[in-house]
Amino acid sequence: MSGAVLSRRAFMKRSAGVAASTALGGLMAVGADLQPAAARTAELRIREAKSYPSVCPYCAVGCGTVVHTVDGKVVNVEGDPRSPINNGTLCPKGAAIYQLHVNPNRIDKVLHRAPGATEWEVWDLGQAMDRVAELVKQTRDETFVEKTADGKTLMNSMGIFSLGGATMDNEWNHIHQKLMRGLGIVAIENQARI
Ligand code: SF4
Repeated sequence: MSGAVLSRRAFMKRSAGVAASTALGGLMAVGADLQPAAARTAELRIREAKSYPSVCPYCAVGCGTVVHTVDGKVVNVEGDPRSPINNGTLCPKGAAIYQLHVNPNRIDKVLHRAPGATEWEVWDLGQAMDRVAELVKQTRDETFVEKTADGKTLMNSMGIFSLGGATMDNEWNHIHQKLMRGLGIVAIENQARI
């Protein structure tokens, strides 16, 4: 190639130099400060956190999670990279687990609406639990069937059905089953995706 004709490489180098000097000139013309600036780094909110392994409660896939806490408060929940099930990933539902714990829209008081009433009353948790226990005991006493008509042992609380929620974890479900079966309840189900 003759000296008068630019090679492709030389052309690219020259073009880059022209572009850079044009860009610098433009920035200086508008008064930009071109001195090196200190890098800004965001402070990780989990920097001082303790981490605990857990399991996503939403479905039977059972993805592993890591729960981060600071001073006993949950500050972050993310997928556990050590889990062979999800390798650190979470589906959109699992990725929102943090909002189970920290969410200003959550109702954190017990609300009770009496039969026929149009307004909700705020109840103390102890009062609500006493009322639930009272109704469970009453229903069990009224509907418990010890033996069938032909004399076979049944021991079944026919009037109570238990439906678990999607955010009940394995440990809770285990204890819950024991309680329900101890009461003679056999209609037990858990919804995990409704
Ligand atoms: S809801 Fe999503 S993140 Fe949770 S266990 Fe199921 S697939 Fe995994």
